[in-house]
Amino acid sequence: MTTTIIGFPRIGHHRELKFATEHYWKNKINQEELQQTAYEIRKNHWQAQKDAGIDLIPVGDFSFFDGVLDTANILNIIPSRYKDLHLSELDEYFAQARGYQNGSETVKALPMKKWFNTNYHYIVPEFSKETNVKLVGNKLFNEINEALEQGINAKAVVIGPYTLLKLSRFIEDTKPRDYVEALVEAYKQIIDRLSQKGVKWLQIDEPALSFDVDSVEKQLFDDLYDGILAEKRSTKILLQNYFGDIRDIYNDVTSKNFDGIGLDFVEGKYNNELLKQNGFPDDKILFAGVVNGKNIWRNHYENTINFLNQLNTKAPVVLNSSTSLLHVPYTAEDETKLPGDVKQYLAFALQKLDEIKELDNIYHDEADGKIALTKNDNLFQSVKHPVNPVVHHRIASLSQADYTRLPERSEREKIQKKEFNLPVLPTTTIGSFPQTKDVRQNRSKLRKGEITREQYDKFNEDKIVRILRKQEEIGLDVLVHGEYERNDMVEYFGEKLDGFVFTQNGWVQSYGTRGVKPPIIWGDISRTAPITVKASVFAKNHTDKLIKGMLTGPVTIFNWSFPREDVSPKESVTQIALALQDEVLDLEKHDIKIIQIDEPALRENLPLRKSNWYSEYLDWAVPAFRLVHSKVQASTQIHTHMCYSEFGDIIKAIDALDADVISFEASRADFTLIDQLVAANFQTEVGPGVYDIHSPRIPSEKEVEDLIKQLVHKLPIDKIWINPDCGLKTRTEEESFKSLQNIVDATKKVRSEI
Ligand code: GLN
Ligand code: ZN
Repeated sequence: MTTTIIGFPRIGHHRELKFATEHYWKNKINQEELQQTAYEIRKNHWQAQKDAGIDLIPVGDFSFFDGVLDTANILNIIPSRYKDLHLSELDEYFAQARGYQNGSETVKALPMKKWFNTNYHYIVPEFSKETNVKLVGNKLFNEINEALEQGINAKAVVIGPYTLLKLSRFIEDTKPRDYVEALVEAYKQIIDRLSQKGVKWLQIDEPALSFDVDSVEKQLFDDLYDGILAEKRSTKILLQNYFGDIRDIYNDVTSKNFDGIGLDFVEGKYNNELLKQNGFPDDKILFAGVVNGKNIWRNHYENTINFLNQLNTKAPVVLNSSTSLLHVPYTAEDETKLPGDVKQYLAFALQKLDEIKELDNIYHDEADGKIALTKNDNLFQSVKHPVNPVVHHRIASLSQADYTRLPERSEREKIQKKEFNLPVLPTTTIGSFPQTKDVRQNRSKLRKGEITREQYDKFNEDKIVRILRKQEEIGLDVLVHGEYERNDMVEYFGEKLDGFVFTQNGWVQSYGTRGVKPPIIWGDISRTAPITVKASVFAKNHTDKLIKGMLTGPVTIFNWSFPREDVSPKESVTQIALALQDEVLDLEKHDIKIIQIDEPALRENLPLRKSNWYSEYLDWAVPAFRLVHSKVQASTQIHTHMCYSEFGDIIKAIDALDADVISFEASRADFTLIDQLVAANFQTEVGPGVYDIHSPRIPSEKEVEDLIKQLVHKLPIDKIWINPDCGLKTRTEEESFKSLQNIVDATKKVRSEI
């Protein structure tokens, strides 16, 4: 055995699982039909891995929604409010993932969170007093049976207990410690059952070891695994980490009774240092993650082989992906519209299987290894990313002044207050209005060539005029054009910037049945024509109120794309920032006086280890944002928006973006962030959301009034804006209009009382 992968994409070659699942939800197919589709997807995926020459094939990584939820359910970590619905096992599972509604009976979904530093989201398990951890679910074992019947050399896969505890929510005064014993028992039983079936390996995923691990957490890890590994068993245990290195716990992990240890040598560069300093035990197998599971470029074989040859161990090495291949699309073979030579440099999931096999051949001096090595070498010799000398010149001539907006914010604040003359507690929205069916149809008609560009634009312009009238009628102070022209806030900008390429079928699961199609950075990035100017100016010409222009920020565009590996993140993000600077200045030139630069992905992509937050991320991310707006006049107001209010720990960095106003999601939170902002002497004006746009619920005027009063109580009144949590694109018009009316009325009421 010399090759494996950590996991495979689940959604299917043509997103069959997505469509089948959504049909099932709409009662268009029954459970057997859905299960049949799932069965076939698994079978095809295992066969594809076998055909590619992968020795040890992950089983149990398949999921109808999310692997963390799968593991929680196998272990009976299911809150009773879902059990009380008395649904079938699958429906109970979906109820946890997406909520349940049947007449008057409604149960909310479990929360969803971003999976480490990826754009995948997991369902957050909930532990409470009633949680009785025990092995109850058969999903893993059923899939193992299936695989064994098909002659697949299966490696069972589960999320490990440490990661499960780290990612879960604990209510009613419970804590991770309370469940150690029960978890140890349950995992032991899993191992027993697998041993009985003759399964050779169990992969236990512990990505949470890539976070900082303190002494208390280390003890937790010890207690879990000393228990789980206490007895002899015939199934071998692989401890699999990814998304970084395990520096805080390396010696602990390597001294335990694991049969194999899986390390990520792509993102976890430091793992190699750990091996150099401490060695790696000869009696274990090293699963070396050398093929990048998170990016789509071909592996450079020569570098990888050199790397493998210098590893400081005599242990047998199994070649592995660095993470699950869940984070890359299915196959590059389908792409027919990529510019000339791009496709040959791409490796999606299927191509990565071949790469692992080829690397294995080279590593073990197999005859066809040499051919593969030469071919790969030629490929890397030939790669030519388009170069734009103007961009390089611009970056070379940047100085500190380009990152500094003058005059300073407090001065600008006075100038802007005078210029805009807005009432206290100005009201606005975050940008998008509902993308109703007709809006999506209009876009698809253009794509299919059923309407002309003029007809398409005319439709959107009518929409803009209509939504402006609506916003005026509601009484909002700062209006937006509604973003009807955008399918997606990153793809839309990528398509209009030089340097990006797009796939037709490059879907990556984001959560459940939802996917994204990230743009690929291929050449130097620049703006070749105005992007949002036309829509913003059109809106400005159709209202007497202030219009807020709307852009996606450089960090978000970068984070939600597949980046180049031959160029530093700093270089790429600076290129994007300069392109957006052109857009901002263009908007300003056209008399758009307020410009919002959205950065929802800024907080999301903080490195997993706190000590890397600045050095590996914020030190280039914050300057990139500043570069976008540093050249505008004092009277132009720059807004930014972040989706989560979880930036308490990087308040200084957020203030250092030097925006004039920031809006963020806050309506569900208890406003603790506001106290933190006050304590940190936060200078940016703030618009904490007062309307939860993720829910169909319409907040009452009274409810919003109370929230506003809390804000006024905590913050200087001239620093507060009133707005929803986020864009309204996924809501219905009815919900949005009523909610916004309540917001505006509540604001007026508070204004009248001060
Ligand atoms: N302006 C965007 C919108 O309103 C912001 C979206 C986001 O923050 N994700 O849709
Ligand atoms: Zn948002």
